[in-house]
Amino acid sequence: MAERIRVCLDEAAIRDNIRAVRHLSGTAQVMGVVKANAYGHGLVPAARLLVHHGVHQLAVATPEEACVLREAGLRAPITVLSPTSASAMAELVARRVRPSLSTLAAARDLHRAAVRLGRRAPVHLEVDTGLGRYGWAPTPAGVAQIERLTMLDHLVVASVYTHLGGTCRDSLADGLQRFQRMYEKVVEVLGHRPARHALASSALAAGLHNDTPLEMVRPGALLYGLAPAYAAAPLGIGLRSVLSLTSHIAHVSEMPAGASIGYDATYRTLEPVVVAVVPAGFADGIPRVLAGAGRVLIHGCHAPIIGTVGMTHLTVDVTDIPQAALGDAVTLIGAQGVRAIDAQEWARLAGTINSDVLTRVAPTFPRTVITPHAPMELSA
Ligand SMILES: *Cc1c(COP(=O)(O)O)cnc(C)c1O
Repeated sequence: MAERIRVCLDEAAIRDNIRAVRHLSGTAQVMGVVKANAYGHGLVPAARLLVHHGVHQLAVATPEEACVLREAGLRAPITVLSPTSASAMAELVARRVRPSLSTLAAARDLHRAAVRLGRRAPVHLEVDTGLGRYGWAPTPAGVAQIERLTMLDHLVVASVYTHLGGTCRDSLADGLQRFQRMYEKVVEVLGHRPARHALASSALAAGLHNDTPLEMVRPGALLYGLAPAYAAAPLGIGLRSVLSLTSHIAHVSEMPAGASIGYDATYRTLEPVVVAVVPAGFADGIPRVLAGAGRVLIHGCHAPIIGTVGMTHLTVDVTDIPQAALGDAVTLIGAQGVRAIDAQEWARLAGTINSDVLTRVAPTFPRTVITPHAPMELSA
């Protein structure tokens, strides 16, 4: 039986995107961000591919994601980018996962766990340079708190970082300057110079690493071939989409003029049409707003989505693709021949950004890695 939906990762595309990132980041280490199921690409398979192709470290949003990676056998350094609760600190220390700290209370929680386990815990100190979420304020009070943290002798500051909130080159550069000033103050109280990282995809694409090279960069979007949500500059760096989403034709019927298709008869045929049903719907991550606006690829041709996008089905018009038949491949995202549909097209139609649509692709489908030579299954 054909799989209802197939989600594939193009290994050659990931490899080339990493190359593009390294071109933008020189000799800096690359910390690949795999939060949110690797932007929908599948946490474990995406992390494996990234590490295999030269990404040095991984970053996640939650301790749970870090544990999944460790359970899967990934040994690269892993950072949790958001605060970790007191109860999860011990597990992170035990699994050698590095938490981010932005309060003294969290530092003490972590220190207690490290002392109990008899380990020294590497940590990342976050500085708030304008995003206003987490991180120490770049103020004398912030520096004073970090100075108190240095008394906690089981903590080792592995890096100091910030997540920039800017959306244009100038505001990104301003945030970076605030970070650099704060970093020098932190160095004075630490007595050593830990690695710094600040640049995510949009700042990297804007070329900020050339102006201010730091020891590490922290991209997500670019690795998956996604234009950054807040592109500060035109890209032109040859990114390749990594994820493809395919299904098949589950049913074909010829409808007379005047027939209604989909819920609420939102679509009524003006002339006889051939309708193909595709067993993929909004529960699988297909945005409902693609109805009447989006399209799929069948036999290398575009077929418009008509009617409504249901929970597990959608309908397309294949009148102009006479060879379309039961079981034929339907590409929802990806290429067929010379044509392609990317997440950006869905995002535009849905009034959102590419990572928003991709993180909604149901995590339940295994991600199949297409290697440059032969397909290889990696568990989801
Ligand atoms: C998501 C995230 C990134 C990666 O952002 P992209 O724009 O996808 O490159 C980097 N750092 C932090 C703290 C993040 O939350």
